[in-house]
Amino acid sequence: MEATLAAPSSLTSLSFRTNASFGSPSLLFRSPLSSVSMTTTTTARGNVAVAAAATSTEALRKGIAEFYNETSGLWEDIWGDHMHHGFYDPDSSVQLSDSGHREAQIRMIEESLRFAGVTDEEEEKKIKKVVDVGCGIGGSSRYLASKFGAECIGITLSPVQAKRANDLAAAQSLSHKVSFQVADALDQPFEDGKFDLVWSMESGEHMPDKDKFVKELVRVAAPGGRIIIVTWCHRNLSAGEKALQPWEQNILDKICKTFYLPAWCSTDDYVKLLQSHSLQDIKCADWSENVAPFWPAVIRTALTWNGLVSLLRSGMKSIKGALTMPLMIEGYKKGVIKFGIITCQKPL
Ligand code: SAH
Repeated sequence: MEATLAAPSSLTSLSFRTNASFGSPSLLFRSPLSSVSMTTTTTARGNVAVAAAATSTEALRKGIAEFYNETSGLWEDIWGDHMHHGFYDPDSSVQLSDSGHREAQIRMIEESLRFAGVTDEEEEKKIKKVVDVGCGIGGSSRYLASKFGAECIGITLSPVQAKRANDLAAAQSLSHKVSFQVADALDQPFEDGKFDLVWSMESGEHMPDKDKFVKELVRVAAPGGRIIIVTWCHRNLSAGEKALQPWEQNILDKICKTFYLPAWCSTDDYVKLLQSHSLQDIKCADWSENVAPFWPAVIRTALTWNGLVSLLRSGMKSIKGALTMPLMIEGYKKGVIKFGIITCQKPL
């Protein structure tokens, strides 16, 4: 099945494959509101479909919140406060210690900034306000606030994460600079043009409406502000290809169920969405090779005695998550899953 995303004016349409988990696939990934306003003759069936899409989106939001409420403590115990991939030199086959993986996660932040052009003191000084969209327990926010001396606001769907993130900020005497709240990335509680850096580290894959997601990132960016999206994507489709192969979609569908993800898109899709806004310096890269050692390392930690005990204590969502990790590795190996970075700047 295929869903068409409500397209920005300069695009005819963007097709995304749907996942099997959240029902009502034909409309799930279209903004219910834009569907209503764009439809001049709304039939009774149309209204039912729009209502179903809204319910499915709500179910997804609830699922994401519950997933992170339940699993964040376990992740923090084992991996610390960054809930994202590490960045490694390609083909590095060395077995790293735990601190090596933590360094790789910090390196992911540094490489992302570098890729986006935040490369010298001059650029760093411009960053005074940061929004961390999908902040987890706030690892990036605290790092960026300390690095730039900036104010940072993080948003997450999980109340447990927001509380833990605020507690950690207080423990590190950063509460005057950093704060966290429960809010939806698709409807951010911020005025237009507020942030010099709009940061989304591995949250885009959870967004059921990529068009709305990108619009919100662009809206809250200040003139001259930078937008950094680092996210799980599927491979780019080749010319003439309309969708992934069924076996590829099958892998993604299984991952979607466990990790509460809607339909995936490609980095090309993100670039097209960004191109529909007046933005400059739009760039993207495939970092799949740089993250390859990550999931095998997570699995190794889960298989230690401590890892297994913590996993069993943490609950079913964590256990299902652990059982899905090999599929992430398979997805990368077979080239279906791509780890993408997409960055741009809002003109002054
Ligand atoms: N960026 C963090 C955490 C990544 S985990 C880090 O690097 O450590 C994904 C995060 O995205 C979670 O915090 C989850 O709550 C958040 N998220 C997913 N969908 C969201 C939405 N619609 N609005 C706000 N946050 C969302």
